[in-house]
This record gives sequence, C-alpha cells and structure tokens, in this order.
Amino acid sequence: MSAAQHGAASAGTGECLCRIHQLNPTLNAFISVLPDPSPATSGPLTGFTVAVKDNLCFADHSNTPTTAGSRILTNYKSPFTATAVQRLIDAGATIVGKTNLDEFAMGSTGENSAFGPTRNPWDLDRIPGGSSSGSAGAVAAGLVRIALGSDTGGSIRQPAGMCGIVGLKPTYGRVSRYGLIAYASSLDQVGPMARTVADAAAALTVISGPDPLDSTCADQPVPDFTRDLDRPVEHLTIGVPRQARNEANNPDVAVALEAAIETYRSLGAAVIEVDLPHTEHGIAAYYIVALAEASSNLARFDGVRYGRRTADPKDLMDLYARSRAEGFGPEVQRRIMLGTYILSAGYYEAYYTTALKVRRLIKRDYDAAFGTPCDAILMPTSPRPAFRLGERVNDPLAMYLEDVYTVGVNLAGLPAIAFPAGFSRVGMSRLPIGMQLIGPAWQEARLLRAAQMFESATQFHTQVPPCAESDTR
Ligand code: GLN
Repeated sequence: MSAAQHGAASAGTGECLCRIHQLNPTLNAFISVLPDPSPATSGPLTGFTVAVKDNLCFADHSNTPTTAGSRILTNYKSPFTATAVQRLIDAGATIVGKTNLDEFAMGSTGENSAFGPTRNPWDLDRIPGGSSSGSAGAVAAGLVRIALGSDTGGSIRQPAGMCGIVGLKPTYGRVSRYGLIAYASSLDQVGPMARTVADAAAALTVISGPDPLDSTCADQPVPDFTRDLDRPVEHLTIGVPRQARNEANNPDVAVALEAAIETYRSLGAAVIEVDLPHTEHGIAAYYIVALAEASSNLARFDGVRYGRRTADPKDLMDLYARSRAEGFGPEVQRRIMLGTYILSAGYYEAYYTTALKVRRLIKRDYDAAFGTPCDAILMPTSPRPAFRLGERVNDPLAMYLEDVYTVGVNLAGLPAIAFPAGFSRVGMSRLPIGMQLIGPAWQEARLLRAAQMFESATQFHTQVPPCAESDTR
C-alpha cells in the first residue's frame, strides 16, 4: 500500500473512532471497539470502515470476544474468523468493532441483548429494530460506512428499514455462513448494511461466493455487483402483493408504499398486482422451523465446551442446567423450550412436518408471482415504523407478528434488498420507513439496479438523524 493510500484510510478510521467515542455511549451500538483498527492490506474496500455483528466470529490480535449478545459467551474468544469478515479484511476494509444484537439474533428490537438495548439514532427513545440492531444504528448514525448483519427472518432488512438505511439479504447459499454463530441454519444468511445501494453492492461483491468451509454455500458465479449499477433495468415489472396492502399497516407505511409504486411508475416500470396467499401463515411456519433448528443449534452451549460455566456444580446435570439457566436470557430460553417441544416425539409431525409443507407452499407462491411475470416484488419491511423501547417486550406473540413481511423471504431462500422510502412524523421525531424488493434466487444484481433507480430518484438516503447532524457525509 502506498503511503498516500494508507494516510487516507487511517484518517477515515480516526474520524470514525472519534464519532464512536462521541455517540456510542448514547446509542450502545457497539459491544466492542477494536483498540487499534488498521487495514491489513489494500483492495477494493480500502478506506471503508466496517462494523461486524457480534454473532460473526473474529479472531484478531487484540483478543476481541465474540458474544452473540449473550451472557453465555461473554468472554468467548473465537480461534477463527468468519469467511465473510475475512473477505472484507482481504479486500482492504478496516474492521472497527463488533455490534450489539438480540441474543443469538433472536428478536426484532435489539432489546434481547445481554449488553443492553441499542437506541435508534432517529429517536433515542425508540428501538432500532433487530436483531442486527447495532449494525443498523452504527451505519445510520454515520459511525461506520458498512456493517455486516445476519438475516434469519428479517434481521438485516427490518432494522435497515427502521433506521433509514440499505440492507441486503442475499439468496440462501450466496454468502458463506462459516463463522456465523448459528440460529436457524436453513434460514441464516450474512449480508451487508450501508447508507447507499452502491456501498451495499461493493460489500456484497466481496463477501459472496463459494467457500470450502460451508457446504451450503453455492458454486454460483459472482458478478461485480457495482458494475452497471447505474444502468436502469429495462422493462422493469414490479409486483405488489395484495397481502402487502394490508389494513394492519400504519397509515404512513401505507402512504410510503403507494408513493414508492408511483416513483417506479414514473421511472417507466410496469406495476402489477401479485398474490402471495400464504403470507399470513409464514409467521407460524417460520417460528416453528426457526425454533426447532435453534433448540438443536444451541445444545452445544452446555458449560463444558464453550463459554460460561456455573460455579460449584453438584454433578454433571446440575452443571448443564445451571450454566444454561444463568447464561441464556429469557427469550432464548423460551425459544429453546418451544423448539424442543416442537421436535419431541408425537408432536414432530403435527408441528415441524406441517411447517415444512407450509414452507414449500410459500416458496411456490413466490415462484408463481415471479412467473406472472415480474422482476421483483415490492413491499414494506415492516407494518409500522420503530416503536418505543419497552413497548412490546412483554408480549412476544405481538412481537413475532411484526415479522410478517420479512420471514417468507427466508423460508423461500430468496434475495431481498431493503431501502429507505419515507418518513413518519411522530411528535417531534421523524421515523424512517423502509421498503424491500424481493427477487428470484441469484438475481441480486437486478435487485440492486432496481433499488439504485429508486435511490437516484429520491432523497431519503441523504437524510441524517438528529444525533448525527455534525456528520459531513
Ligand atoms: N425477528 C425474527 C426472530 O426473532 C428474525 C430474527 C433474525 O432474522 N435473526 O426470529
């Protein structure tokens, strides 16, 4: 690397650390900040500051822990680095820290973290969305240029929407899951969060592609997603699901959806109505599949092999029981118990097998909609903008229902990009509203170009949250 390049990269990093120092005590977006972040090499992401969701393993020389937002992993030092993180490092990016999240990525608000909730930069009394709460907050407040998140049922797109940024959930198998602490392995994907479509495209280009360390990572060609990004999609046809024009939508979300449709029309796109008849059943199917897989994935945290162990156990059973009871928070315990029940003899067929059938129907709904034909499906990322901290913590079912627009994409394994598409005025605050475009498998390039068309025609992405107003972006 030339001295000039190095200077540019470190100046950016210095400013970034300074902003983190200033704003993180309020936002609580980071669980750890690296003492001396510097790029290891130069490449396409030289000068990019990056934050990594703390369920992605990272073995750096400063021994930064990988906590997954859980007490049980508070002092866990990973001996290896997740492939997606390693690829960013190899591309010249500067990793500056690990971001807060709902424990084991289980949640929609960031409030399930053992390290306290993250605050939404647009209104400090509200949630940033979750589970990639810290990644979304850090990008929105201008603390970093790019963040990695993970999306099992919406955890990249929903917080991106609530924080007014771009978030991309790749096709299942596009990005390696090696080094991602598993929640529900058949649904989990790692993806980028950024303020612009171009930055998300740059990060996706680097992290995508086959990996011998993850056999579910597909051998699909990876285009340079930044190339042709400004070239509008010709004859673009957007499908709007009947089910997304839902009376449960907050009125400002409904207005933003119609406005987004108008924007695409004015850009020459054809807009058609499509039907996703099993949308409503997506929540039940998702929470059965995800919790079943979670109960099995989290069995390894037993106080013996990883993480925290209880003091003075009486015997082995006591060691397991108390280590897990002390280490896992209430939502994770609820999900392990539900997942174990779902998989138990006698109930397995009724719940798990049925959920897999619904999963297949949801996939078919999407295939039929794309066959209409349409290039992409447009809908909100969530039915309402960010709610208040504490507003729903005691009603897990109401919380699960908020995921209605995101979980189907994971069940069907499809790519989707969330982007800022409006604001809702609540009292003194302006709260971002997000839309998403969902595409057929492996069509990220086309989705990014369609999202870029919207970004070029609108100003939502240029808005800065009040707490970051000194930001000179
Ligand atoms: N909110 C969903 C859940 O709690 C999605 C989480 C995620 O995508 N990691 O399971």
